[in-house]
Amino acid sequence: MRVTDVHEVLQRCIDYHGHFCIGQSLGVRIAKKGLELAAPESEKDLIVFVENDRCIADAVLIATGTRLGRRSLKLVDYGKMAATFVNLAKDAAYRVGLQPFDLGDASKEEAKQRVLDMADEELLSWQRVRVNLKKEDLPGKPERIVRCVACGEKVFDGKDIADHGGETGPFCISCLRGAYYETMKDRR
Ligand SMILES: [Zn+2]
Ligand SMILES: [Zn+2]
Repeated sequence: MRVTDVHEVLQRCIDYHGHFCIGQSLGVRIAKKGLELAAPESEKDLIVFVENDRCIADAVLIATGTRLGRRSLKLVDYGKMAATFVNLAKDAAYRVGLQPFDLGDASKEEAKQRVLDMADEELLSWQRVRVNLKKEDLPGKPERIVRCVACGEKVFDGKDIADHGGETGPFCISCLRGAYYETMKDRR
C-alpha cells in the first residue's frame, strides 16, 4: 500500500471532504509518509490513529483506505496534526507529525503545491513508536459484549468497567464517569 500519485489522491480527498484546504494536502503527505514507514502489505495489516477530527482526518482516511467503522481508523482527539500508522503484521508503528513551517502569504493554490513539493524533512517529523493494542481494539468479531448494570445498554469491546467502589458492574463509562450529554427530564 502506497501513495504513488499525490495529485490523484489529493483530488479524491477533496471530493470526499467537500472542499480544498491545506489540511487535505497535509493529510496526504502525512499518510504517504506513514504508509512508506509502516509499509503494510495489505489493508488488513494497517491501523491508523489520527489525532484530531479536523480536515486532515478526512485526508488520512481517504489516502490510507482506513475507516472508523471498520476499526482500522481510530480517533484519539489530542487536537494535534499527527497520525500513527501501525503495521499489525510486522508489529511496527510510526507516528508522523508536522515540522513548524511557514507558508507565508501564499495563495491557497500556491500553498497546496508547496505542501505537495516540500521535502519530507522540511514538512514532516516522524519517529518509531510502540502502540499497545488490545485484542478488543482490533477489527473482527467483538471479543466482549456486556450489559451495563446501571443503564441496561450494551457495551462492546471491553469498554466497560468491572466494578466501582464495592459495587459490582459491569458499568458503562457514561454511567460511571459522567457523559458528554445531560438527559432532559420530561422531554422526548
Ligand atoms: Zn478542510
Ligand atoms: Zn450504563
